Amino acid sequence: MKTCLPLLLSVVTLATAACAEDKKPAAPDKTMTESKVTLSEEEWKKRLTEEQFRVARTAGTERPNGAEYEKFNKQGDGTYYCVCCGVELFTSNEKFHSGCGWPSFYDQSKATNVKETRDPDGQRVEVTCKRCDAHLGHVFEGEGFKTPTNRRFCINGVALNHVPKGGPAPKLLELGTAAVDKKKEEVAKEAGVEVKK
Ligand SMILES: [Zn+2]
Repeated sequence: MKTCLPLLLSVVTLATAACAEDKKPAAPDKTMTESKVTLSEEEWKKRLTEEQFRVARTAGTERPNGAEYEKFNKQGDGTYYCVCCGVELFTSNEKFHSGCGWPSFYDQSKATNVKETRDPDGQRVEVTCKRCDAHLGHVFEGEGFKTPTNRRFCINGVALNHVPKGGPAPKLLELGTAAVDKKKEEVAKEAGVEVKK
């Protein structure tokens, strides 16, 4: 279990926060992706708008050149977080104008929380959030864009939460309730303490 130490520490933080222990909590690691957020469809529906749910949780696509794209074009420097779970996905450094009608980035951010999966038919490569599996859009290569990668992450603006430079990062969504409880128990067992239920 040694390899899971950062994860376990952050779970200990969760587990002990309610008990008001004076141990210093481990700093949350925003790039941590080992633990998956697993919420039920109903839980996601409660947290998201109808359009966010449709796009991010059912692999939908927002309409091109829509309100989200207009917003995206006006956004200045900043960071783009997953609208579902709050991890960093892209930054304005990788943003470029592709003219396709959807937010475009030539790469994901250094946090590397974007996962690429080829569609079953082999035609397109879907991009999702590594932490919560939110559908973000697709990535295309070799289209001739004069960018450092010549790749185009074609992303649904509604799946992103833009925070202007210097602004606070959104709170990371905790793991699903059942998953959190299971981890708390594992951590407590290792530490030899009882978990209050
Ligand atoms: Zn996510």
